Amino acid sequence: MPLIVAALVAVIILAQGLTLWRSYQATWQLAVHSAENVLNTVAANIERNLTVIDLTLRGAEDAFTADGVKDLPPGLRRMVLFDRAASARYLGALVILDRDGNLIEESGSPQPHQLNLADRDYFKAQVNGKTGTYVSTPFQSRLRDNDPSIALSRRISGPDGQFEGIVAAALRLAFFQSLLNAINLGPESVIAITRTDGTVILRSPSTDGKGNSGISVAASPVFQRMIAKPGQQFSERSRLDGIDRYYLHTIIGDYPLLLSVGISPAAAMAEWTEFALISSALTIGMCILFIVLIRVLRLALLRSQEVEEQLEILAVTDELTSLPNRRAFDLALASEMRRAARHRTSLAVLMLDVDHFKRVNDNFGHAVGDVVLARIAKEISRSIRRPGDFAARYGGEEFTVILPATETGGASFIAERMRLAIASMEPCPNEPALGKVTVSIGISVTMADPTTSGADLVAQADRALYEAKGAGRNRVVIYQPDEFDNAVGATDVTLGG
Ligand code: GH3
Ligand code: MG
Ligand code: MG
Repeated sequence: MPLIVAALVAVIILAQGLTLWRSYQATWQLAVHSAENVLNTVAANIERNLTVIDLTLRGAEDAFTADGVKDLPPGLRRMVLFDRAASARYLGALVILDRDGNLIEESGSPQPHQLNLADRDYFKAQVNGKTGTYVSTPFQSRLRDNDPSIALSRRISGPDGQFEGIVAAALRLAFFQSLLNAINLGPESVIAITRTDGTVILRSPSTDGKGNSGISVAASPVFQRMIAKPGQQFSERSRLDGIDRYYLHTIIGDYPLLLSVGISPAAAMAEWTEFALISSALTIGMCILFIVLIRVLRLALLRSQEVEEQLEILAVTDELTSLPNRRAFDLALASEMRRAARHRTSLAVLMLDVDHFKRVNDNFGHAVGDVVLARIAKEISRSIRRPGDFAARYGGEEFTVILPATETGGASFIAERMRLAIASMEPCPNEPALGKVTVSIGISVTMADPTTSGADLVAQADRALYEAKGAGRNRVVIYQPDEFDNAVGATDVTLGG
């Protein structure tokens, strides 16, 4: 029973665990999938914008080196140099610097500012050799009130390939900020645009309130893992805020820019965790209830079994003497006979009959007779000591005793003890005039003889009892086959009294 309950509980818990595991995987996969979508969408958006700027730069570069453009009136020249893209919302100034870094052309301004930008990285990078389109580190624009920006620059080369200056476009960080702000990947998630040299362009949320722009994360494990294995997703702890995240990343087009998204498993799985806790608690509660229910049922069953046993005992117990009745005696004798045959041991049966009991009833009434019978029964019970010994009320004023593994000597000893105990007891304390009562006892012993039946044994004891009565009552007689068969008489073991 407990095994079945344990197995059932195990099955319930297993099913619950499996369900939770599946829902965990589904929830996590959904979180990763939406992070991937965000990553790809934002990367495509940035790439498209950078490409437009790049094309504008190339156009300006070509126009600047084209014959005759330099000689155009300033207004017309600006229109030729800087197309409509120059008016894009997040685009800062489009500028052309000469070989010394001096501002010589500026979109949206008829008179270029008197400014030298030779110290900017987007200028320096183009001085030596061809680098294509360069993406700068973040800076604060001197042309636009320190507006945080990055710049894209291209080299202008003379006919012999010599450095003639650069054409550059500033892109406001506000552009990236508006992109990243529109994204909600859940609590504790992060999205960042970083140059492939580890310089952060913008991180959202930032840890310094300024988008972490310009700081280097080149030494951080997160960045290093992204550079080591492009495109591979991984779990890592952020150095900036100490939060464990699952990172996805991609290079933006052909630009030296890395877009990364980090989602926090703890945050992404918070709802699932709550659900798992509640449903696990419910399952455990259900299992406990189930076990309690089974226990209650088991106890109820045991109790009803006990009641049944009690009833069975009552059915085989004599009410007046509380001794087992004739039916119980028959069952016990059959079982003891089998056991004696199996173990080849002897078995003794005693038959007791109260002497002149009719007189007790006649002189003192049936009620007194009943008291005497009950007291005799108590003396009989008291005289047997071994666990296997069995006394019963055979009927009327007759009693029987089964003594397993007992031979003639032991049986007659116990019978004598009974006879003497009964003869010396007070038969009815309320009737002093009653005097003493005596019993006669017949004994029969089988020496593990398989031909002897229980009925034979009882009949033999009865015959010995008959002999005892005939010999004057208040005595013990042992059945002796030869003598009895020849009707010669029994061995009287009565010690006197
Ligand atoms: P003896 O056995 O010595 O030959 O004489 P006896 O008087 O005992 O003989 P008998 O067997 O004829 O009488 C048995 C009497 O036992 C008859 C009946 O009145 C009495 N008796 C039998 N059962 C009960 C009982 O349950 N209660 C009472 N009070 N008397 C009973
Ligand atoms: Mg009798
Ligand atoms: Mg009698």
